[in-house]
Amino acid sequence: MTGTHGRRLVLLGATGSIGTQALDVLTRYPEVARLHGLAVGGSRPEIVADQVLAHRPERVVVSDPDRADAVEATIASACRTAGASIPRIEVGPEAVTDLAGALGAQDVVLNAITGSVGLLPTLAALESGARLALANKESLVVGGHLVTEAAAPGQVLPVDSEHTAIAQALAGVRHDQIDHLVVTASGGPFRGRSRDQLAQVTPEQALAHPTWSMGRVITTNSATLVNKALEVIEACFQFDLPEDRVQVVVHPQSIVHSMVTLVDGSTIAQASPPDMRHAIGWALAHPEKLPGLAAALDFTTAQSWTFEPVDEDTFDAIALARAAHREGGGAMAVYNATNEEAVDAFFAGDLTFLGITALIRAVLEHPERPRAERADGVEGLLAVEAWARRTARTLITSAEL
Ligand code: NDP
Ligand code: MG
Repeated sequence: MTGTHGRRLVLLGATGSIGTQALDVLTRYPEVARLHGLAVGGSRPEIVADQVLAHRPERVVVSDPDRADAVEATIASACRTAGASIPRIEVGPEAVTDLAGALGAQDVVLNAITGSVGLLPTLAALESGARLALANKESLVVGGHLVTEAAAPGQVLPVDSEHTAIAQALAGVRHDQIDHLVVTASGGPFRGRSRDQLAQVTPEQALAHPTWSMGRVITTNSATLVNKALEVIEACFQFDLPEDRVQVVVHPQSIVHSMVTLVDGSTIAQASPPDMRHAIGWALAHPEKLPGLAAALDFTTAQSWTFEPVDEDTFDAIALARAAHREGGGAMAVYNATNEEAVDAFFAGDLTFLGITALIRAVLEHPERPRAERADGVEGLLAVEAWARRTARTLITSAEL
């Protein structure tokens, strides 16, 4: 592989589903980058200690101050036992953003934090000039204009199977040759169910995704189709298209990861067995290809791929997001923040499964909802977010849903 010698990686969200798979890619392809620093929330100290010993980063950041002592003690003890030097350990959300902005144009930041807390690190990484491998779709959805304005052409490489697929399908295609994008959706564990059948869904059932193994929030979002809704908006910003040129189609096998239909009527698809290491490795190594990165499709055995429309009467998440995106003014920040609160409430037993998108609708339709104009910058967005979280919590406890 050429062109990556001496490249450093900052990995935000190292202990998560994407983070651990990224380190797996790094272990198998050490020529891709050397791990300079990692950031975590702090809930999995043993995993962080193992990662420190395996990859020897210079810097470790723990976002949650209440968990920092435990992480620090576990790392120190593991390093002493192994005779390894203890990395610099910093604490707090500002330190995460600081680490995200610490590298330069030859380097890469993989943002695999869950939630809109990833926005400030995303902006810091862009400002530093580093390549941003972006799994944290929330930062693009919530701060779309800020992120796209801060990004140089080609600086953001998506780590989301659909968007990675579209980016690959668009190689050699001019923007004016695109008719529309087709984002595929597995349909989640409740494909084919009616609203009545969804009324009693439990968190355990929502976590049983048919084709992907992922973190708790994105798995729940896949069940409500909020994940697909976020991905439509992610595609609008990543590929500079309005929402009515981003279609969604249900493809339960999760093999065709997305498609692009061109103005001449041709559709280009990217296909591979579901394995996020493909998207991670693609974004880290681009434009190189990592040999043997993930299993390829095997066409020596019979298989069928099916496609069907989304049942938008049962799942209203996508229509709500399209309307929020058309409106702009921070409406997507309200949508996302409310969803994050709703998922927590669903797991706490305070909200039903159908209550998740009902809450998003209620907060979006709230008569006092504030707007964030572009001139208000990131502070304006964060203020709108904070309002949405407060309002969502009030509605949850007032049992109006
Ligand atoms: P996980 O919940 O598995 O992991 C989240 C990671 O972020 C953990 O390492 C967690 O640390 C860390 N973290 C949480 N808060 C902070 C913070 N404030 N600062 C620094 N680190 C923090 O999530 P996933 O890996 O599933 O998803 C990560 C992102 O990637 C999401 O935006 C998701 O939508 C996206 N994505 C994920 C896919 C997947 O297959 N998983 C596919 C496509 C996109 P700790 O362990 O200490 O809590
Ligand atoms: Mg995806």
